[in-house]
Amino acid sequence: MILDQAPEMKTSQRTDASVQLRAVPYPYRAMLAICSDLDETPDRHVYWEIVRFLNTTAETAMGPGVGLEVGNTIYFDMPPDQFAYWNTDDAGREMIRALIRSGHVDCLHSYGDLATTREHAARALDELARHDCRLQVWVDHGTAATNFDPDIMQGHGDEVGHEAYHADLTTDYGIQYVWRGRVTSTIGQDVRPRLRGIFDGAHPVASGRTLLKEAAKHRLARAGNAKYAMHGPNETLRHATLRDGRGVYEFMRCNPHWGGVSSCDQGRHIGKVLTPDMLDHLIEREGTCVLYTHLGKVDDPRMPFGEDAVRAFHRLADAFHSGQILVTTTRRLLGYRRAVREIDVGSVIDDKGLHIEVTTKAGTASSAALPAADLAGLTFYVPDPTRTHMTVAGVAVPNLKRNASDHTGQASVSLPWPSLEFPTR
Ligand SMILES: [Zn+2]
Repeated sequence: MILDQAPEMKTSQRTDASVQLRAVPYPYRAMLAICSDLDETPDRHVYWEIVRFLNTTAETAMGPGVGLEVGNTIYFDMPPDQFAYWNTDDAGREMIRALIRSGHVDCLHSYGDLATTREHAARALDELARHDCRLQVWVDHGTAATNFDPDIMQGHGDEVGHEAYHADLTTDYGIQYVWRGRVTSTIGQDVRPRLRGIFDGAHPVASGRTLLKEAAKHRLARAGNAKYAMHGPNETLRHATLRDGRGVYEFMRCNPHWGGVSSCDQGRHIGKVLTPDMLDHLIEREGTCVLYTHLGKVDDPRMPFGEDAVRAFHRLADAFHSGQILVTTTRRLLGYRRAVREIDVGSVIDDKGLHIEVTTKAGTASSAALPAADLAGLTFYVPDPTRTHMTVAGVAVPNLKRNASDHTGQASVSLPWPSLEFPTR
């Protein structure tokens, strides 16, 4: 017998008390992706050592790795003194391809400063496709001609008729999430905007200025300003339309440093960003963070992260391994946020107890269907996990996780969150 069923309603609007979506995957309280632009990374050795330190527990130049899940970016056409796909050697290119396939290189950071035409973009995409390397996230870089943002990032990538126009090729290849220069100082997205944590009593003038700037962005957003529209709702993701009419998801990044969104956005200063206070605020807010930084900007290529940075990553690793902050790649975090927005959830009581029915929308011309992998981690509070089962698009979930009560005192069920597998070379 069907007791209640509301498949057409969005989860967030449901009044049904028996199934409630948890904000982040159990048991975590918050979610964070380090979204690092690779600018000024000296060479493939530094790139590899950073990736290895962050993603494995192997011995590195900075001691044992912290065993997190952290992605990285890549671009193609750059001046010869900078690490980039075309600049590095065959071993470097093979490394990048292996990391793209494993999900540890997850963002295209434009096509590079020297990519000025559609042909540059096509050459890079052909190379990626030829090796079956799929990227879905785009991040504008500096003032590269291939950027998408017309204002701050001075891009022409989506301007039909411009020699740098490539949005059709790039979205057909698979890019669907784009970053166009939006950075916030607010710690924690996907929760109500709150400016606490920006002001730092030790740096009253500079942090006061940052606080006022952020407050102004929120005011402008409320007044209908397009440039700061994302700051108003404080959501990581929104639908956006490129200038050629193509639909994408746009995302916002965060640099919560008291000095402002461009302050300490580098590997050499990451210890001043991932502070105990910042992590505590993020946990307490139960928010999302796509952290804006440039980990390849380092002082010593032989030891890319100094003591302070190493301590910061250990701090973050403690928050992850103790079940406080789910640290993952940008691509995975964005997929999770998309799933939260787009799933429909219904529930019925049947002979086995509570039956949660998750369905996703079919793809459209401007947006591919949500991949099943993006449902990973979805967690629902339920009265009795042992008497709960779930179907996704009508198919039973065989490995549903049944979770004990969390800090709210509620039990839950969740879809597993598998870790990425680091490539062996
Ligand atoms: Zn850049």
